[in-house]
Amino acid sequence: MIRNEVKVVVIGLDGATWNLLNSWMENGDLPTLNKLVQNGVSGSLKSSIPFLTIPAWKCYSTGKNPGKLGVYLFYYFDMKEKRIRIHKSTDFKAKEIWDYLTEYGYKSCIINMVGSYPPKRINGFIVSSAIDGVPRNYFYPSTLDETLKKINYILEVDVNFKSPLSGNSLKKIISCFKSRFKLAEILLNEVDFLHLSLFYTDPVQHFHWNEKEKLKLMWTLIDKELGKFIEKIGKNTYLIVMSDHGFCKLKGTLYINNWLLKNGYITIKAKGKTAETFSKIATFFNNILRISGRIASKLGLATKEQIERKHLFSYIDWSKSVAVAIGFGVGLIYLNHETIKSNVNYLKNKLKDQLESIVDPKTGENVVKVFNREEIYSGPYVNKAPDLIVVPKVGYQVVHMINRSEEVWGKCPHGRKAFHDMNGIFLVYGPNIRRNIKIAPITIYDVAPTILHMFNIPVPKDIDGRVINEIFMKQ
Ligand SMILES: [Zn+2]
Repeated sequence: MIRNEVKVVVIGLDGATWNLLNSWMENGDLPTLNKLVQNGVSGSLKSSIPFLTIPAWKCYSTGKNPGKLGVYLFYYFDMKEKRIRIHKSTDFKAKEIWDYLTEYGYKSCIINMVGSYPPKRINGFIVSSAIDGVPRNYFYPSTLDETLKKINYILEVDVNFKSPLSGNSLKKIISCFKSRFKLAEILLNEVDFLHLSLFYTDPVQHFHWNEKEKLKLMWTLIDKELGKFIEKIGKNTYLIVMSDHGFCKLKGTLYINNWLLKNGYITIKAKGKTAETFSKIATFFNNILRISGRIASKLGLATKEQIERKHLFSYIDWSKSVAVAIGFGVGLIYLNHETIKSNVNYLKNKLKDQLESIVDPKTGENVVKVFNREEIYSGPYVNKAPDLIVVPKVGYQVVHMINRSEEVWGKCPHGRKAFHDMNGIFLVYGPNIRRNIKIAPITIYDVAPTILHMFNIPVPKDIDGRVINEIFMKQ
């Protein structure tokens, strides 16, 4: 194989959407992104199902669907133990871009990629993300310690994203981003491949979507940092700017376990006074937060009081319940096969039909599309997948909380103003990349094979994506 003397840099902007960025680019507020679009190839990027930060970033880094990763969400439901468990980076079974690069002798640097804790050993550097990392041992190799200290690397910011976004909070977030770019700048010359993720754009957009001036300020500052960073990138470097999913205004929230309860799929142990019981439950996050509560609460995933409450699973009468959902945004339904008396496929179809006929009482719109796991996943871990995946239509979200009133419809329990959608961003610029071209949507699975191709590494057959050939100039 001929070694390609190129560099590839990926900047991951969590939740970035053209819907928000386009008008600011046109107005000249985001000159760096605008210049990259004018001089490169851009388009939208179809995310994974579910279009959530995890698994989406892992689908990017592996080029594979969740059925080949064994991971469908940050956490999963262990039906045997009847509890939620959190995933570790070692639960992801597929090779990532940097594993292939290591095999072929290339060196990589991965900064703040979600799902990278604990950091694995690669030829290069990994600095795990704050969302799944803990302040100790979050980087590899240990010799990075000195550099991280020297630049005051900020692993996580002390900001409560649910509170109004003050100038001070924004300043903290931007300082954190600056420290990520600073680290990237230092390590850039030592590596062939660099991935840098900015994650906090996601929670800021969730909670402050209606404050467009603040969002504009955040993106303007990111654009400025990106501009400074790309000046340091050499000529023979491909630059990819991408997101893991898009974002849109939230119109309504479906409380899926309330629905399962009302329709007889879940039975609660408590006799009679369910509403009272539920006021004590409120959330499933107890188990999850035992591990990452400190960070999750800052991101608005749950409050401290909720952490202390007992989780729903201990209130479920499993001898009488056939299905339960987990997930915040997209619903993942797990069936309790011990109690299913009818044919499983019959039950799945019945659930699918019933769920797909749910309408937003305000608009009469159908709000979800339900997929059987075999319809959308392939690979050795499909048998670990949730049985049904309940995907909300644009503007809706599905949550697993039980709200006090047992209503199927309600406001977002965490006060989010926006939720994800399928359409992220993709942008590439560099040697022999076409100029000022818009391409048809690509998928998140296409990025990894395209990067391997840039390094002249053959694309393994079990990768689901394809090389995005249309970005290259014809030779
Ligand atoms: Zn995300």
